[in-house]
Amino acid sequence: MLDWSEPSAPASHAPPPFAASPLAETDQTGLGTIDRRGGRVSVDDKRMINCRADVNQLLPLKYKWAWEKYLAGCNNHWMPTEVSMQADIALWKSRDGLTEDERRAIKRNLGFFAASESLVANNIVLAIYRHLTNPECRQYLLRQSFEEAVHTHTFQYIVESLGLDEGELFNMYREVPSITDKAAWALKHTQHLDDPDFKTGTPEADQAFLRDLVAFYVIFEGMWFYTGFAQILSLGRRNKMVGIAEQYQYILRDESIHLNFGIDVINQIKIENPHLWTKAFQDEVRDMVRTAAELEAAYGRDTMPRGFLGLNAALCETYMHFIANRRCAQLGLARVFDETENPFPWMSEAMDLKKEKNFFETRVIEYQNGGALTWE
Ligand code: FE
Ligand code: MN
Repeated sequence: MLDWSEPSAPASHAPPPFAASPLAETDQTGLGTIDRRGGRVSVDDKRMINCRADVNQLLPLKYKWAWEKYLAGCNNHWMPTEVSMQADIALWKSRDGLTEDERRAIKRNLGFFAASESLVANNIVLAIYRHLTNPECRQYLLRQSFEEAVHTHTFQYIVESLGLDEGELFNMYREVPSITDKAAWALKHTQHLDDPDFKTGTPEADQAFLRDLVAFYVIFEGMWFYTGFAQILSLGRRNKMVGIAEQYQYILRDESIHLNFGIDVINQIKIENPHLWTKAFQDEVRDMVRTAAELEAAYGRDTMPRGFLGLNAALCETYMHFIANRRCAQLGLARVFDETENPFPWMSEAMDLKKEKNFFETRVIEYQNGGALTWE
């Protein structure tokens, strides 16, 4: 590429494009000193991690899947305050509209999500973003970060609408052991990346980064959120807490894109770095998925000790096994539980707002549907 800003510099004296300097000195953040003699980025220079090409050059695009998810996220824009909470408020304040078991499940569900949205957002912004050295992926991360803010806003709006105890809800991740166990397990995987000296570029560090991606995208957003959605959407289908159920439906649609972005990121890193995806590492990831399903089962028993309206801890555990096996398949791994039917087949339809809208009979907001969202 002709560098006409410094025409006197002979090409042969230019530093080799992205090779010789040790990784620690190359700029992976995009905030380093501008390399006036650096070349323009070509598609072949782009990499998911440990990339030495300029991360400030979005174009030319290499990973179309990342750009498509960015566009799909933008097409699915929504705000929690657009959903009416009148029916929920009336039901919540009524004496006998909800059983004690339902109230307990709803509160714990809200409590789990309220803090989890922040944990996920912090992980994206403070851990993932720095080490994912690709501008189209970062473009998606910026969109996702905003969506996580919208989700946190949703829980603020619910607390305010229903007059819930905000301290109780936002502290459940610290005060309710079955929720703390999940949050603490996930945080363990991001703490490595929180070390200011952490850098990718060795097999150990790159695997630590992959573990973080698995913990947050595949497990936190891709497994634990799904039983949470099932609980609330199940109530919604029975005409209870329909405002919250509609908000969860929007969140579910966002999360299904987050999850699939994460799966694509992991699979692309695998393709580019096959040495990281060892048999031992694959076993480790499968163990993570299995442990996560067990933590979720414990949370289910704690949240729904008796079950209500066709939903109970045992069914949720079966659902978690189904989801766990599916996540393994998406990562190209062998399943971790016996093959099982999906006990909540209606969940895969819940993402299609046009199909479900009649259920909730909400005010009609025609959000653009980002094409058919097939990534469940
Ligand atoms: Fe979220
Ligand atoms: Mn998310």
